[in-house]
Order: sequence, then C-alpha cells, then structure tokens
Amino acid sequence: MQIVILGPPGAGKGTQSLLIAQKLGLIHLSTGEILRKAVEQDTELGRRAKEIMQKGALVPDDIMIAIVRQTLSSEEMKSGFILDGFPRTLNQAIALDKILTELNFNDLRVVNITANDDELVKRLMLRGRKDDTIETVKHRLEVYRKQTSPIKEYYEKKCRVYDINGIGDINEINDNIINVLKEPVTRPPVKARNME
Ligand code: ADP
Repeated sequence: MQIVILGPPGAGKGTQSLLIAQKLGLIHLSTGEILRKAVEQDTELGRRAKEIMQKGALVPDDIMIAIVRQTLSSEEMKSGFILDGFPRTLNQAIALDKILTELNFNDLRVVNITANDDELVKRLMLRGRKDDTIETVKHRLEVYRKQTSPIKEYYEKKCRVYDINGIGDINEINDNIINVLKEPVTRPPVKARNME
C-alpha cells in the first residue's frame, strides 16, 4: 500500500503518519524531516533549503521531486510507504504519479486530515519548531491554501480521498484513518455486481 497524507501544516500529518506506519508496517517518509536533517548536517541540500524553510516558503519542485524519486526507488519501499509533506504542489502531484507508475506502485490511497485555522495556529505555536514563528506560520498556511490545497481536487478526479477530522483524540483519529484504509479500493466488476 502507498499512502499520501494531505492536510495543512499542524493538522497532525507527522503524528498520524508515524502511527499508521507502525501499525501497517509501512515506511514513513517525511520530506520536512529529510530537509531538516539536511539543514542540520549542513549538506548542499540543507544550505539551499535552510532560508526557504525559515520563511515558510516551498523548496523548489525539481529538488523535492528528485529527492522523492530517489527515495522511492530504494528496495525497502517495495513493502509500502506513507508520504508526509509530499506532494505539496500540483506539479509535485503530477510528478509523483509518473514516479509511481515507473516504479510499478499501483495501490495509492489518499487521506486528507482537516482542522480549522485557529486550531492550526495554536498547535504550530505550541510546537515551537524553528520555523514556527507567527509570521512563518501565517505564511505557511497561506502557501498551503494557494499551492497545496488544490491537490485534493486533483486526486478526487483520480481516486477516492478520505477526509478525516484532525481535531480530537490522537488515537481515535488514527483508528478512523486505519478504518478507511481497510475499505477495498477496487469495485467488483459490473457483471458480478449485477448478479447480486
Ligand atoms: P509542516 O508539519 O508544518 O507541514 P513539514 O515538516 O512538512 O512542515 O515541512 C517543513 C518545511 O519544509 C515546509 O514549510 C517547506 O519549506 C519544506 N518542505 C517540506 N516538504 C516540501 C515539499 N514537498 N515541497 C516543498 N517544500 C517542502
């Protein structure tokens, strides 16, 4: 199974992705984590990403797409993964489709975690990461609204997108996600359905 987890910053994508990965034996892939590690280790990628992240802007698509393509090509991904923080633009979503096809992954599920802006701002300010200042947070939410939220409509044209309320108890939210992932994706052939 391959999962894309959508939702605004602060919705709980990271927390829920980790739990899902543990429960379903998938690899958790957070592009934010990859970038933060690169900044910490002061690699070439880190040096390019640092200021962009501090502003709450997006790292260029070509860089992110190359990272994801390379990571997903590794053998260990064959058992399934959950993508957290990617795709973040329509371009990235289109590139991901291509990558998945090339690598023969064909069981994509899309989960969208929702939460209102007041709650998101509150959570992000409490989290207190380096890029969680009030200006950056507001900018990230705006970037999300403009660039990332259209991805949901993109996926809705291709497959079912499961909306999950991100407000409430972490474990209950997780149960809700696990439950929708258990739903079969393929519909029975028309013939079989007519015979029912
Ligand atoms: P959040 O939990 O607030 O959504 P992330 O940890 O996912 O934050 O990402 C932190 C920052 O890393 C983003 O604000 C952005 O600058 C950069 N980033 C992460 N993923 C991507 C991506 N797919 N495309 C562009 N920039 C990204």
